[in-house]
Amino acid sequence: MAAPRNHSKSVWWLQVWAMRATVPLLLLLLLPVFGSESSWDPAGYVLYCPCMGRFGNQADHFLGSLAFAKMVNRTLAVPPWIVYQHQRPPYSNVHVPYEEYFQMEPLRKFHRVIKLEEFMEKLAPTNWSINKRVAYCFKAAAQRSPDKKTCPMKDGNPFGPFWDHFHVDFNQSELFDGINFSAYYKDVWTSRFHPSRHSVLALPGAPAQFPVLEEHRALHRYMVWSEKIASEGEAHIRSLLVRPYVGIHLRIGSDWRNACNMLKDGTAGPHFMASPQCVGYDRHTAAPLTMDMCLPDLKEISRALLLWVKKSKARAVYVATDSASYTAEIRASLGDKVKVVSLQPDVAQIDLYILSQSDHFIGNCVSSFTAFVKRERDVHGKPSSFFGMDSPVKLLDEL
Ligand code: GDP
Ligand code: MN
Repeated sequence: MAAPRNHSKSVWWLQVWAMRATVPLLLLLLLPVFGSESSWDPAGYVLYCPCMGRFGNQADHFLGSLAFAKMVNRTLAVPPWIVYQHQRPPYSNVHVPYEEYFQMEPLRKFHRVIKLEEFMEKLAPTNWSINKRVAYCFKAAAQRSPDKKTCPMKDGNPFGPFWDHFHVDFNQSELFDGINFSAYYKDVWTSRFHPSRHSVLALPGAPAQFPVLEEHRALHRYMVWSEKIASEGEAHIRSLLVRPYVGIHLRIGSDWRNACNMLKDGTAGPHFMASPQCVGYDRHTAAPLTMDMCLPDLKEISRALLLWVKKSKARAVYVATDSASYTAEIRASLGDKVKVVSLQPDVAQIDLYILSQSDHFIGNCVSSFTAFVKRERDVHGKPSSFFGMDSPVKLLDEL
C-alpha cells in the first residue's frame, strides 16, 4: 500500500512546512504590535499639559519633562505645542503636533516616548478607562477647587481646551505634597505612584522647572527639526541671506517692556525668567542683570551689531522680532555693505531655525525664545552672545 503511505508522508511534510512558515510569519505580524510604541508599557506613562507660557517656555518644560519621565522610567506622552492665536482666526488655541516642528525618532535615543495623539487613539481606549481617569496634582493646586480635593485639570485657558482637544475628562484626583519633580524625590515617585496602581500619571502642568535646569539643557540634542521646518528655513537662508550672517533676536514688544520694568525698581535679582543662561545658574556667582540685557535700546543693538558684524566678517544680518524690526535704523548704522533682512514669518519656528543657523547669534538673555536658539547652537558648537553681555558666563560644557 505505497500510495497512502506516500500520501501521509506528504501531508506530514506539508504540516512541517506550514508550521515552519507560519511561526515566523506570525512573529512578523505580531512584531509591530509588541515591538513598537503602540503596545502598552507596564512601567506606565506620564501625561502633561504644556500649559505655561508660549513656545520658549513650553520647550524648556519639555526638556525637564523628558528628564522626569526617564528618571521615573515611564513612557513620556509627548504633548502637542499650544499656539495662542488671539489676533487671527480661529482665535482659539491651536494644538500643533510635536512632529510638525521636530522629529519623534531622535527622542527615542534618549527615552521611550509616544505622541499624546497616538496614546489617545491607540492605547487609551483599551488601557485608560474613561471612568477611571485620575488627575495628579499638588495639594495646594486642589485648594482652589470647591471641595478642595479636586485637581484643577480643566479650569480656564489653556487647560480646558487642551484636554477637550483629546476628549479627556478626569473623574478622580490624587493629591501630593512635600515633594517636587527633582531627582531628590525619585524614589517617592516610583514607590508611592507605582505603575501597577498608577499606570497613567496625568498632570495639570509639566513635571519640570522653569527655566530648564542646567543639567537638562543637553537634552536639547534630541530635539531635531522636522524636514518641513528645516527645508523651509534653508530655502529662506538661500534666497534672502549671504554668509557669513549674524542673527539677532529682538524681544522688545509691550509685554516685554512691562516685564523688564521690574528690573528698574530692583525687585528682580540676577535670576529673572531665562536669565541663568547668560548670568550663570549659581545664584552666588551670577553676573548682574542689566536693563541692556533685558530690553536693549537702539544704541545697544547698534553697538553689539557693529562689534559682531566686524568680528565675524558678516555680510548680512537677520532680524527676528516680536514687534518692530528696526531694519532701517540698523541699515543706517551698518552701512551699505551689509544686507539687513527681517522675514517676520507666521510660524515662529522659522525665525528660530534661521537664528540657529547663523554664523553668530546675539540674543536676549531673559527670553526663553532666545534660550531655545542658544541651546540649539551650543549643541552644534556655534557661537552666541547677548545684548548687554558680549561674553556670557560658561555653562556646563556637556552640550
Ligand atoms: P519669552 O517670553 O521671550 O521667554 O518666550 P516665549 O516663547 O515663551 O514667548 C514669546 C513668544 O513671542 C514666542 O513664542 C513667539 O510667539 C513670540 N516671539 C517672540 N520673539 C519672536 C521673534 O523673534 N519672532 C517670532 N516670529 N516670534 C517671536
Ligand atoms: Mn513668555
